[in-house]
Amino acid sequence: MEDYPKTILEFEARFATDQACREYLASLRWPEGFHCPACDHAKAWWTGRGVLHCARCGHQTSVTAGTVFQDTHKPLRLWFRAMWYVTSQKYGVSALGLQRVLGLGSYHTAWVWLHKLRRAMVRPGRDRLAGTVEVDEVYVGGAEPGKHGRGAAGKAIVVVAAEEDGAGIGRIRLLRVANAGGPSVCDAVQQCVVPGSLVHTDGLTSYNGLAALGYPHEVVHKGSIAVGENPLPRVHRVASLLKHWMLGTHQGAIQPQYLDYYLDEYTFRFNRRTSRSRGKLFYRLAQQAVAIDPVTVTCLPETGPPDMLESPAV
Ligand SMILES: [Zn+2]
Repeated sequence: MEDYPKTILEFEARFATDQACREYLASLRWPEGFHCPACDHAKAWWTGRGVLHCARCGHQTSVTAGTVFQDTHKPLRLWFRAMWYVTSQKYGVSALGLQRVLGLGSYHTAWVWLHKLRRAMVRPGRDRLAGTVEVDEVYVGGAEPGKHGRGAAGKAIVVVAAEEDGAGIGRIRLLRVANAGGPSVCDAVQQCVVPGSLVHTDGLTSYNGLAALGYPHEVVHKGSIAVGENPLPRVHRVASLLKHWMLGTHQGAIQPQYLDYYLDEYTFRFNRRTSRSRGKLFYRLAQQAVAIDPVTVTCLPETGPPDMLESPAV
């Protein structure tokens, strides 16, 4: 059963202590009930230090070890408030905004926390898209390409895949690719879409290999639709919303080397945009935060946050 607070008052009442937070994480990490990893015994108690002590062999297990929260020196209560804030804001939050709302002493801490939580926004082993899927590649970030042939310097190429849901959009996936060549984009489609799904693309020849990979493939030609109509309206709508989000919430200050994390966050938000309860997003994030490996500093900057320009959307 999905168990989560529905409102801020429920949240505050429920997660008033670090022990309450630990017990919640334990229920998400071991939904079938805790079993000692050393002897498989099912009975354990919480010690004063907040670890689970096996009643049979005495082995001690930390609920945060091996998760996003591993080695944190801050109270879990603060992490829970970060997760609540991040998920209750429809468009997310910048590092500076998080630092302010939590009263964190350091911008760097807020920046690192957001990156750790972004990693948790990708569900391990998540499903690929299915049905009929629009796919196209778009340029993201960097300087706007000039009108006079300056090209797309500094921009990343992102493959956007969007399920067709009637006239609307179902789920999406976003994946950065090295280039728009056939091997890159076809590999991206394989990562994002279940074989057998019907894939709609524009005329780019890079997608010609899809049929051989088990994807029925239709090219939507400009000539086959009304003048001025977009052949792939869903992916272009997603790309446009993504760019607005990057410029709005994050003030366009996203560094190329961290783009993948922002794409994950955007996908998490977009795919849950119709969720009526923000508490459910909190639940998913907390659930995934204890399901993924700890995020070590090697994938985070050693010299401090690169996006000091990042500021809250006004
Ligand atoms: Zn044991």
